[in-house]
Amino acid sequence: MSELTGKLDELRGRFDAALTAASDDRALEEARIAYLGRSGEVTLLRRSIGQLPAGERPGAGKIINDVVEAMEAALEEARTRLQLRAFDEDLAQRIDVTFPSVAPMRGSIHPIRRVLEDICTFFERHGFAVVVGPEIEPDYYNFDALNIPPEHPAREGFDSFYITDTLLLRPHTSPMQVRTMQQHRPPVAIIAPGRCYRRDAVDARHSFMFHQCEGLLVGEQVHFGHLKGMLTGMCRALFGPDQSVRFRPSYFPFTEPSAEVDTTCPTCHNIGGPCRMCGGSGWIELGGAGMVHPNVLHEMNYDPDVYSGWAFGFGLERMAIVRYDIDDIRRFFENDPDFLAQFA
Ligand SMILES: [Zn+2]
Repeated sequence: MSELTGKLDELRGRFDAALTAASDDRALEEARIAYLGRSGEVTLLRRSIGQLPAGERPGAGKIINDVVEAMEAALEEARTRLQLRAFDEDLAQRIDVTFPSVAPMRGSIHPIRRVLEDICTFFERHGFAVVVGPEIEPDYYNFDALNIPPEHPAREGFDSFYITDTLLLRPHTSPMQVRTMQQHRPPVAIIAPGRCYRRDAVDARHSFMFHQCEGLLVGEQVHFGHLKGMLTGMCRALFGPDQSVRFRPSYFPFTEPSAEVDTTCPTCHNIGGPCRMCGGSGWIELGGAGMVHPNVLHEMNYDPDVYSGWAFGFGLERMAIVRYDIDDIRRFFENDPDFLAQFA
């Protein structure tokens, strides 16, 4: 019996070596025929069992069967290995791994978003909180609480989209000023950015939907000088270090005194002349501002004799137009990749 085992071991060693050396299917098949085929070495060995004593035959048969099973498994494994190698070589021939890759498409931050983020960053650095809220609001938050009672002519100036008799798409982000003052005692320092809606016909300078950013500071001894300082700082952060601001007297129901705010034209730097951006005036109008009206403070249960505050509201499209020298507000909403890619 040990003679048989020794012979099988030796034979198995040669078979494995043949498999390892085989470089294609044909070589594998030759090895199979030489050992496991009809006249193969293992087959001949199996036939020789007949010459053994009758008692040893079943044991010898089992040993040979086990070896044959192991050899067939090794053969299958070698076949798989050759197939994988052939696949890799084929792939390497068809794919040039040294070819330059295609650069992935990269998006860019929308100019409105970029202006918004820069404004938020500036005010957050000065301790202001950013608050956002609903775009559909009751008219109390849009008008009544802001010293604009129902019969007030200023309501018509807002040209709003009403959803019901008392609910409307907000025409400014002022409702967030009201909501914040209802929930917090002074001091309050917030900016409220977001989408607003008015029934404006769409043209190069107007859109029925636009973005606004409002600011509000209420506390003790807050005065107009603080407003001027903050807005000057904001304009310098957005448009450059030499910006100035100019206040022109105006009227809003919710502030007293009220002002229109201008900043130095970043295109002609206040030199004027034939400037397309500012029309030669050297100034760009940004929006409205003023000291919070005592009636508004009163409505929020803030004592106007103790607290004072300022507020402003600027259109973000207007600021982006000035900052990036854009000719038409509609470009912001057309989703034209060629336009947006310029801000990447
Ligand atoms: Zn100009």
